[in-house]
Amino acid sequence: MTENLKTHEETTIEALDRAYVLPTYARNYEAHFVRGENATLYDARGRDYIDFGSGIAVCSVGHGNPRLAEAICDQAKKLIHTSNLYLIEPQAKLAARLAELTGYDMRTFFANSGAEANEGAIKIARRYGTDDEGNVKRYKIITLEHSFHGRTITALKATGQEAMHTYFGPFPDGFVYARDIEHIYDLIDDHTVAVMIELVQGEGGVQPMEKAAVQKLALELKKRDILLIVDEVQTGIYRTGEVLASNLYEIEPDIITLAKGLGGGVPIGAIMTRLKDILKPGDHGSTFGGNFLATRAALEVLAILEEAKESGALDRLLIAFETRLKTYVDAYPDLFEKEVGVGLMRGLRVKEGKEAGAVVEAAFKERLVILKAGKNTVRFLPVLTMSEEEMALGFERFDAALQSL
Ligand code: PLP
Repeated sequence: MTENLKTHEETTIEALDRAYVLPTYARNYEAHFVRGENATLYDARGRDYIDFGSGIAVCSVGHGNPRLAEAICDQAKKLIHTSNLYLIEPQAKLAARLAELTGYDMRTFFANSGAEANEGAIKIARRYGTDDEGNVKRYKIITLEHSFHGRTITALKATGQEAMHTYFGPFPDGFVYARDIEHIYDLIDDHTVAVMIELVQGEGGVQPMEKAAVQKLALELKKRDILLIVDEVQTGIYRTGEVLASNLYEIEPDIITLAKGLGGGVPIGAIMTRLKDILKPGDHGSTFGGNFLATRAALEVLAILEEAKESGALDRLLIAFETRLKTYVDAYPDLFEKEVGVGLMRGLRVKEGKEAGAVVEAAFKERLVILKAGKNTVRFLPVLTMSEEEMALGFERFDAALQSL
């Protein structure tokens, strides 16, 4: 058996996947990952891969994290789920921890994914625009072009990429798309109840919003009693170096949505809001949302990342990663146009005529996992607890990949 030939078992599992799983993903079958240690993944043939993608910003504390695994196992042996009809100790503690760490005087609703968190945020906004007799006063929500808010029907409609809407209509009414932050002001009318934005557009190409423009928008919306919803599904939970990107931008949104990095791989979504009493029992809910297992995992993830922040390890990694990544623009001026992003959510924009996908493929051949965002961005979402050695090896492989192109 050579390492380039798939084993019998790999071939069998791949055949099952191809025959029985709906083909909604352009799946890479070259490596079958079976385990991981921090920022290193291992495939079925024992080959190691450096993970600069974190399962698309999810595995914030790395793979096989012993503390997270221990917390999950301990909780699984005690209680996984009881329903939200009863008190859930780690849920209460997690909601309190989120308020404390972010500094926002907010309550939280727990869901299971980013799209579901955004759906809930939209429901809160719609409730805000409706009087107690059920008369709709304001309902319009402004989002940005190139945004990404999820795949459910309403979150998809909130997503400002018309191409993604083809085939799936009709959609709920009341969404309009602004070209950029300045254009939001032109779209506000008497029906506008909320503006929903990502502070760093992730899927749209790792595009950070300008801080001063966001701060001005937040103030302006407050004056006009229009809610600011910040989708922190990708930016949240230390991805930008702060607990939330909203902390980094020094704004106080009305609603914040979270998911991805919060559970370290255990599915969880969250809606934080300062509108503490807007929803009454029965207005919203979720069978699984905030159960013992997911919230206990998230509490451990927060504890691990808070320690990394406090010890300076996270900031050291962030600076080292950014510094290294920036060198590629000068080193490969024909390939890369600029370096973009914030914290450990970064990208290299490729020049017109060049293919970001080709860079991602070449990296994979060198056993480095990176991602593509938008049409022309090579995206880096490294594990937040990555070691110096893993980072160095990852960039060594990136060098080899670029030389192979
Ligand atoms: N919002 C943002 C900013 C995202 O990046 C994503 C996923 O990439 C979503 C929402 C949707 O999250 P999920 O896939 O968990 O539904």
